[in-house]
Amino acid sequence: MTPPASAPAGPPLLSLDRVTRSYPGGRTALDGVSLTVAPGETVGLVGESGSGKSTLARIGLGLLAPTGGTARFAGHDPYRLRGRAARPVRARLQFVPQHPRGSLNPALRAGDAVAFALRVHGVPRAERAERTAELFRRVGLEPALARRFPRELSGGQLQRVAIARALATGPELVVCDEPTSALDLRVQARVLDLLGELQDARGLAYLFISHDLAVVRRLAHRVVVLRHGRVVEEGPAERIWAAPEHPYTRSLLAAGVPAPPAGPGECPGGASDSVTPGPPRT
Ligand code: ADP
Ligand code: MG
Repeated sequence: MTPPASAPAGPPLLSLDRVTRSYPGGRTALDGVSLTVAPGETVGLVGESGSGKSTLARIGLGLLAPTGGTARFAGHDPYRLRGRAARPVRARLQFVPQHPRGSLNPALRAGDAVAFALRVHGVPRAERAERTAELFRRVGLEPALARRFPRELSGGQLQRVAIARALATGPELVVCDEPTSALDLRVQARVLDLLGELQDARGLAYLFISHDLAVVRRLAHRVVVLRHGRVVEEGPAERIWAAPEHPYTRSLLAAGVPAPPAGPGECPGGASDSVTPGPPRT
């Protein structure tokens, strides 16, 4: 799986226009950020910890409202995609978090988490078990693992469950916020390969967020570099790797970026919190 050199064309699926977000206390996390993701495209969003990546992800997903500017997903304000009537649009936009252990209900078997997503999106009860097994196979998990609870699964297996759950609704765009940074390197590479395969098979678009350029490099068609809540550089991935223009991008490429501390979703016995960058793809 090699990322195509150019991004697929088409009107954007996700479009942020001069988005600003401040938090109470006056802190500005995003300051006039514009960004688009086209169907089938992977946009890599990179920047060091605290640069505003997760704030941008949450605005794109409609979990947070911007304090200025506009966000649109398929022509809708994502923050208003609430309630039953919005579900068909909502289903087209999904999320893979950094810490699946924190986002999966510990009292729910892995298969039930996926089946629940199917139920919310109107798949009849009689079809849910078979669809869940299919989704497990699709993400490289034995369907028998559906009977396990989150604590009985490894970090890599849990991240595959989170991906299966995201796929359950038939999304067109999946926002991945540091989806592999809690996994050890070998598992990280396999999950990235899986995301690439799913894109090839289903034409998925990704907003793929990472502090780690080596990770973004495996998948991104286009790269957006965020620093202190502003876009300092963006362009086709190949160009960014070959000839970064902004000194900040050059410093990220030269030195790597400090990893953020482990988040609250980390559990003892979970996957290791590797910070070593993987080998660049050539
Ligand atoms: P990243 O994901 O790139 O590490 P974030 O979007 O999480 O960055 O954070 C960007 C900035 O906004 C940081 O300075 C962070 O401290 C601040 N911030 C994030 N969430 C909140 C919040 N709920 N309240 C106040 N400040 C926040
Ligand atoms: Mg973050």
